[in-house]
Amino acid sequence: MGFASLGLDQMLLDAVAAQGYETPTPIQAAAIPAILERQDVMAGAQTGTGKTAAFTLPILQHLMAAPKAQSDEKTPVRALILTPTRELAQQVYASVQAYGKGSGLRSVLVYGGASTNAQIEQLKGGADIVVATPGRLIDLMYKRAVDLRQVEYMVFDEADRMLDMGFMDELQRILKVLPAERQTLLFSATFDDEIFKLSKTLLNSPKLIEVDARNTAAIQVEQRVYAVDAERKRELISYLIGSQNWQQVLIFTRTKLGADALAKELNKDGLKTEAIHGDKTQGARDRALESFREGETRVLVATDLAARGLDIQQLKYVVNFELPFKAEDYIHRIGRTGRAGGSGLAITLMSEEENYLLEAVEEKLETRLPQQWMQGFEPDLTREVKKPPRRSSRGAQKKRARDRALGKSGSGKKANRRR
Ligand code: AMP
Repeated sequence: MGFASLGLDQMLLDAVAAQGYETPTPIQAAAIPAILERQDVMAGAQTGTGKTAAFTLPILQHLMAAPKAQSDEKTPVRALILTPTRELAQQVYASVQAYGKGSGLRSVLVYGGASTNAQIEQLKGGADIVVATPGRLIDLMYKRAVDLRQVEYMVFDEADRMLDMGFMDELQRILKVLPAERQTLLFSATFDDEIFKLSKTLLNSPKLIEVDARNTAAIQVEQRVYAVDAERKRELISYLIGSQNWQQVLIFTRTKLGADALAKELNKDGLKTEAIHGDKTQGARDRALESFREGETRVLVATDLAARGLDIQQLKYVVNFELPFKAEDYIHRIGRTGRAGGSGLAITLMSEEENYLLEAVEEKLETRLPQQWMQGFEPDLTREVKKPPRRSSRGAQKKRARDRALGKSGSGKKANRRR
């Protein structure tokens, strides 16, 4: 099935062809006709599924079909797209620009970390579409720089992450000024009670779309878990990147400090590495990302929030330097690779203390993630585990770890250990 059968106008079909897209992704095939029919939509789709085009294309079509009233007054905002992070806002904005090139519609990007005045200036020219992060949008609302009272189309992109980041209050404040009569689209990688609660207040008889099995990660991603002692993780990842000649490796750490420290060490190992996290200026984050995209920086170390929604074409390698505390974050992280059909490899470095986190991920994915050892980096199974596991006794957990490891990849032999 091609894009033409979805009901899109020729201009948008041309725009899609110019991007090199040949067939709609499953989320596009399901969402585009529904949105064109003016239905509210609640879609379970992570980044990498083509969700941005799924909501952007039909909104552009609606806006083009009903041109704004001719008047001297500045254009009121007609479509509002909210995203949790600056990076995602930038990416969505770039897509809106690309797909809407010949549409004559104006779009403005509104996000924190960049000059407020420049954004106010841009809004003065009017905007059919605003792509925004919630905090800055509210600042601009209070400064009366943006008028949302005539919004016809509202998109919540990565709604789960907006709630995780504590944006509920901001969302409520924004919703208060929007007209009740509008079309609302909610996209979320994961669904829990909070999202369902939010959706009830937002959506009007929505069409539910789920493209993957519930909460499962993209299947094109090969997932490998290496059991390794925490203090040897840095050495192991450095060895893997070097010996396997991996380029463009995205590594996740839990903390900003951890990200900086790891980047420093990897640079010492001769791997050109940069870190991005919330304490870096927007300019520094943009530069680091650009250099990584261009292939000048080989390794990018990021915290979950900084990397949220990043779309890096052809990204092959994602590494969990530590397992995240929340199993959903694992899905978000490995969703950075294997995007829109490409294949990817997701490596997790797991120390024994993190076993319970792996179990939580396995539960979420409803699948076992076999552990293996890398020769020369085998974990010391005789040492004390610092944190007792939450769900089972230490002895039982150790035994399970040992059984699993022994049952898999025979590469680990204690006699071969380096230390
Ligand atoms: P998204 O999930 O919106 O972040 O999109 C992920 C990536 O898939 C982006 O790089 C898009 O350019 C790309 N993409 C979106 N739709 C398609 C399609 N139908 N065919 C091929 N690539 C696509």
